[in-house]
Amino acid sequence: MAIKITDECINCGACEPECPNNAIYEGGVEWSIADGTNVKGQYTLVDGTIVDASQRNAPIAVDTYYIVPSKCTECQGFHEEPQCAAVCPVDCCVPDEMYQETVEELLGKKERLHI
Ligand code: SF4
Ligand code: SF4
Repeated sequence: MAIKITDECINCGACEPECPNNAIYEGGVEWSIADGTNVKGQYTLVDGTIVDASQRNAPIAVDTYYIVPSKCTECQGFHEEPQCAAVCPVDCCVPDEMYQETVEELLGKKERLHI
């Protein structure tokens, strides 16, 4: 499943550069699929919504850093464990129960993001 950031985030910014999928954004910053990936053209999000990879989307959180579920692969294919959780000083990067995914699905997501 994807990882999410709880409201205990202290906005230290340590996690953002560690993400291999550029799935982490500062609060209030717009996100896109194309940031840090090789995706061009249409892309289907985990909720089935189809977006253009380069379109800027509304921030998911404004007061804390946040993770885009469609870009988080739990670091599968890159690292042994979620890097955001490994570096977070307050342990607020936790599994997001809303997005249950198998390892195979996460690896498939990684392949779609990094063609
Ligand atoms: S678990 Fe990995 S892929 Fe997901 S947001 Fe954290 S660093 Fe990025
Ligand atoms: S490392 Fe943790 S506390 Fe720091 S910005 Fe990321 S989620 Fe927030």
